[in-house]
Amino acid sequence: MKKLNGKIIAEKIKNNLIEEVKKLKEKTGKAAHLVVLQYGEDEASKAYAQRIEKNCKNIGIEFEYQQFIEEPGKFKEILKKANQDPQITSIMVQQPLPKNLKDSLEMINPQKDVEGITSASLGKLFVGLETLNPATAEACMEILDYYDIPIKGQRAVVVGRSNIVGKPVSILLQQKHATVTMCHSRTKDLEWELKQADIVIAAVGSAEMIKGTMLNENSIIIDVGTNFIDGKLLGDVDFDSAAEKVKAITPVPGGVGTVTNQILMRNIVKSFKILHGITI
Ligand code: NDP
Repeated sequence: MKKLNGKIIAEKIKNNLIEEVKKLKEKTGKAAHLVVLQYGEDEASKAYAQRIEKNCKNIGIEFEYQQFIEEPGKFKEILKKANQDPQITSIMVQQPLPKNLKDSLEMINPQKDVEGITSASLGKLFVGLETLNPATAEACMEILDYYDIPIKGQRAVVVGRSNIVGKPVSILLQQKHATVTMCHSRTKDLEWELKQADIVIAAVGSAEMIKGTMLNENSIIIDVGTNFIDGKLLGDVDFDSAAEKVKAITPVPGGVGTVTNQILMRNIVKSFKILHGITI
């Protein structure tokens, strides 16, 4: 079994971005600028924003964090301003959001939508146009690409059909000519589906639910899951039993998540280039 190490890939993307950001600054005199908007108190979101801030600083991206506690109206106002502000090149709206603010995600200027969550960004992905793709879906593809894992004509089984991971990664896999099966909570026989797979993308959110016995020995496993159980980070795949069986697998931590962090940085740089009319 081969362990697909996300850290090496993340480091490579980071180093490329440091160079690119430096060159873009020389060319335009400006830096990419991310604003993260958070409504309400949520410790996990805050911690995530702090990690993003650190990654931005490492690369030379300007970072701004705005938290709103009791002013839903103001939240949308600030979001509108961020959309229009030429200094702000990337916007992230942190979730969860209260019901009356859920529609604010759709308000993000698609050119600044570095998480690729607006219907405009996802629509472009669907029809095969260049856009800002959801970072986790891109990270799965980046790992397959880095390790030269064949995709064309291969059977890929994606477990999970969320808008942010399962669906976009299924489209990216199809663009690379995989034959894709989507599995979800109503799939009749998940084990049978998994056994047919050359590539498995697990994006469920259920700790270690996919066991080695459910997989075939020729498969490549990309585990997107991040489940905190008793202070430990676990994937959706039971790493130990799967590692005994399959050809290759990403660990959790040190796999998809690590790469996703840097792909998000790459999206921030990409949005800067889109807004400055620089060919990407
Ligand atoms: P969602 O909760 O939005 O979607 C989960 C999907 O899993 C749904 O489509 C659901 O099916 C399906 N599902 C649930 N139970 C089963 C089951 N028993 N068998 C088959 N399918 C099932 O999750 P996300 O896509 O947002 O996230 C998935 C995981 O990936 C989470 O652990 C999350 O933390 C992690 N994640 C990791 C990221 C990273 O960068 N590493 C980034 C984003 C997410 P149905 O549609 O029928 O309900």
